[in-house]
Amino acid sequence: MRVLILGGTTEARALAAELALDERFSPIYSLAGRTAAPLLAGTRTRIGGFGGAEGLAAWLRHEAIDVVIDATHPYAARISVNAVTAARECGLPLLRLHRPPWQRERDDDWRDVANAEAACAALGTERRRVFLGIGRNELAVFKHAPQHRYVVRAVDAPNPVDLPPLADVILQRGPFTLVDELSLMRERAIEVVVSKNSGGAAAQAKIVAARQLGIQVVMIARPDQPDANECTDAEAALRWLDGLVDTAHGRTTSARGV
Ligand code: NAP
Repeated sequence: MRVLILGGTTEARALAAELALDERFSPIYSLAGRTAAPLLAGTRTRIGGFGGAEGLAAWLRHEAIDVVIDATHPYAARISVNAVTAARECGLPLLRLHRPPWQRERDDDWRDVANAEAACAALGTERRRVFLGIGRNELAVFKHAPQHRYVVRAVDAPNPVDLPPLADVILQRGPFTLVDELSLMRERAIEVVVSKNSGGAAAQAKIVAARQLGIQVVMIARPDQPDANECTDAEAALRWLDGLVDTAHGRTTSARGV
């Protein structure tokens, strides 16, 4: 079974690595090519956009793909829409693998907002020291609030034109530890954190650190996604794929006994 895995996440890499060891599957791992030194998955990899839903559909046909797994980041909305459209057009099964969001806990001070623009507005007019842990894509939005002092963390260097005037950039790739996040927030005297609700362990320490230090988190909501089969971890995706293989072979019990 030829499986396209739209990747860029820990879960996508875990799934691709599992499938590469399973002779029933022939996985192709796909990345947008956003980072200079991407983490690979030990299987056939392709890098770069497909050219919209149409380009993706053409690519799926050309590669004779049997099934699509959308294991992109929950905020990578465009590719997820394209995946649903292209899979439907080609009559292929699609599964979306998105890790569950973090849940608010009792001592959390979260302010929920719809998008980066609303996050910027939520920072208010008074000057504050802001930790921006949202990646590189939407930094330019915060140029509309130049009064704040920002600490921006990203894997690769942001384009300087996207940065607000008072911004220090930290180049780092997770996972991040609680000890390090606590000392970063103390050293930089952070007053508010802007975050996406990415879920997962690698980026969660900043949320826990904010909780412990009584720092507000402006939490950007996940974008809406079109309807699709969904799961939240690589094991569940494997079970779903097992089911497809079984159906294809007319069996009722899967190879993994689930
Ligand atoms: P996006 O806005 O949904 O996608 C923009 C365009 O990038 C897509 O239309 C597609 O180009 C291309 N693309 C995206 N993901 C791709 C993939 N896995 N393989 C091939 N092409 C892909 O996505 P994004 O927010 O730019 O994110 C890009 C990648 O970074 C994703 O793989 C995602 O998992 C990862 N990532 C994103 C975030 C985030 O916060 N957005 C965080 C961590 C990692 P075409 O239309 O030309 O096909």
